[in-house]
Amino acid sequence: MRTLVLPFALALAAAPAAAKLNVVTTTQDPAAITRAIGGERVEVTALCKGFQDPHYLDAKPSFMLAVNRADLVIAIGLDLEVGWLPPLLHGARNPRVLPGSPGYLDLSTLVKPLEVGNSADRAQGDVHPMGNPHYWLDPENGRLMARGIAARLGELDPAGKASFSANLAAFEAALDEKEVAWAKALAPLAGQPVVTFHRSWAYLAARYRLDVVAYVEPKPGIQPTAQHTVEVIKTVRTRNIRVILMENFYDRRAPDQVASHTSAKVVFVPAMVGGTDKVNSYFDLFDAVVSGISAAFGSPP
Ligand SMILES: [Zn+2]
Repeated sequence: MRTLVLPFALALAAAPAAAKLNVVTTTQDPAAITRAIGGERVEVTALCKGFQDPHYLDAKPSFMLAVNRADLVIAIGLDLEVGWLPPLLHGARNPRVLPGSPGYLDLSTLVKPLEVGNSADRAQGDVHPMGNPHYWLDPENGRLMARGIAARLGELDPAGKASFSANLAAFEAALDEKEVAWAKALAPLAGQPVVTFHRSWAYLAARYRLDVVAYVEPKPGIQPTAQHTVEVIKTVRTRNIRVILMENFYDRRAPDQVASHTSAKVVFVPAMVGGTDKVNSYFDLFDAVVSGISAAFGSPP
C-alpha cells in the first residue's frame, strides 16, 4: 500500500528501472554472470541462494511474482531444479518465459554434461538422472554460460547488443587471467585422490585433474548412512586421502566422522556464488574453492 502514497517525483525517478530487462535466474551463478554481462541494462533476481541446496528449494510466494514479471528466466537445467521450477513456471502465468520461448534459457544446453546415462539410479533416488548438473564448477563452462547469456540478452534487448558484447569480452579476459592462477594453484595436486560429499565437484575435478574416488553420499541426494560412512573411512585410509571436499550447505557430521577416523581434512567451501558473504562473483567462487583445496593439501606432495 505504501507505493500508493509515493510522491510523484519518486515515482517518476523509478520509471527508467522499468525499462531494464527483468531476469530471473534459478541460482546465483547465472545471476552473477548475467549482471556482469547485462550491467545497467538488466535487473536480476536469483531464486535459490548460494547457501541453499539447489536440488531441494522451498518455493516462496515471492518467486511466483518474480517469474510473473520476468522477461527472461535462466535455469541450470539437467533436472537440478526439477522439484521446484516447473510448478513456478506453470503457476506464474507468464507465457513469455515458458520452456521453448525466447524468454527461457536452459544453460545446460550449452555445455557437455558429465555422468550421463545412469538412468538405473533414478529409482534409487538419484537426483542426477539426466547427468551431472553442477557444470558451473568448471570455469570453461562459465565461459559458455556467459556467451549464451550475452547472446540471449542481445536477442531480447537488441539496443544493448554492443554493450553486452563489450561486457562479455571483459568477462572472458578476466576469466582467462583467473584461470591461469587457478590452474597454477591446483597443478601440483593433479592426480590426487579426494573424497567429495555430493557429486558437485565432477567438473572441477575433471578440469584440474583431481581424482574423486568416493562420495560421502551413497547416491546423489541420498543422506549418508553409517554403513556407507564405514566404507568411505576404509577408502580414505587405503588411498591415503587427504581431502574431503564438501558443499557448505550440507550437514558436516558424516564427513567430520570420516576425518576424525583418518588423516583427511574436511574442506567446507561454497559450491555456488552467494555461498558465503565473501563470494559475490563467479570469480570469487573459484578463488574460495581453489584456496580452500590448496590450504587443506598444505605444501604440495
Ligand atoms: Zn547435485
